[in-house]
Amino acid sequence: MSKNWVNETLYDAWQQRFRVDKELVHKKSEYQDIQIIENEFYGRVLLLDGVTQISEKDEFVYQEMLTHVPLFIHGHAKRVLIIGAGDGGVLRRVLQHPEVEKATMVEIDGEVVALAKQFMPDISGACWDDPRAELIIGDGIQYVVDAPSESFDVIIVDSTDPIGVGEVLFTDEFYKNSARILTKNGLIVNQCGVPFMQADELRETSLRRSKFFDYVSAYVAAVPTYVGGFMTLGIAGKGQNKIYQTVEVIKERAVKANLLNKTRYWSPEVQLAAFALPPYISEQLPEN
Ligand code: SAM
Repeated sequence: MSKNWVNETLYDAWQQRFRVDKELVHKKSEYQDIQIIENEFYGRVLLLDGVTQISEKDEFVYQEMLTHVPLFIHGHAKRVLIIGAGDGGVLRRVLQHPEVEKATMVEIDGEVVALAKQFMPDISGACWDDPRAELIIGDGIQYVVDAPSESFDVIIVDSTDPIGVGEVLFTDEFYKNSARILTKNGLIVNQCGVPFMQADELRETSLRRSKFFDYVSAYVAAVPTYVGGFMTLGIAGKGQNKIYQTVEVIKERAVKANLLNKTRYWSPEVQLAAFALPPYISEQLPEN
């Protein structure tokens, strides 16, 4: 076993590191540095530009919460747009919802998709072959500029942090067009970082979303490899705020989707509890 370690480069003053039991691939694509390593505890881990994106061991936390929460809030999303998410884990979960007729995934970096398929196939499973899935290799910002108005019920943004190629997905232009292409009661979710470490990210992007959406909120998930306490997922929507469905309604929807008791982090109760924010997090959100 090699004694190499990889240090995450996300923060200047603090780092997490993984023991590299095997390096499966390390290459530069047109957009970013892509590395997939094997670690005895976390399994295979994907890093982009030195920042941890996903591990086989804890991906279920983030992917289930990013997908099931908005889809169960919406209740009848037929058309879903996924931006980023090259590993395919979000697409796989979106397609578990039987009401979804089409899931369009726009990922800028075809290399991430290819390498995740090759080295982390369990994350996406067979989702790429689902006839409802459409994969577009392209820039998410351009896609939302070009898409027709009111063409999606839910948008899920599974991006890198607001640095490098992912930066455009946190801008006014992106949120303005996202609001335009969402249907009447449509909603958008996106990762907003770990507020203990990156409070600005949640505060600034929530403020931006509030310019274009009728309501803005956030919910939490404890993702072991996104270190520093809770990770936040921002949510914003058009129309009436229906975030707080009762447990009974969510359960009913989960039974219909055959997902009740089939998930490892998400549950109807966890969905509701995830919106109970500690004050150090809620104070970053604008008043609705
Ligand atoms: N779930 C993990 C997380 O949040 O850390 C993994 C996300 S990772 C797979 C994010 C993906 O967003 C990357 O594959 C990256 O190429 C893609 N991405 C970054 N900027 C993008 C853009 N402007 N348009 C589309 N995809 C983008």
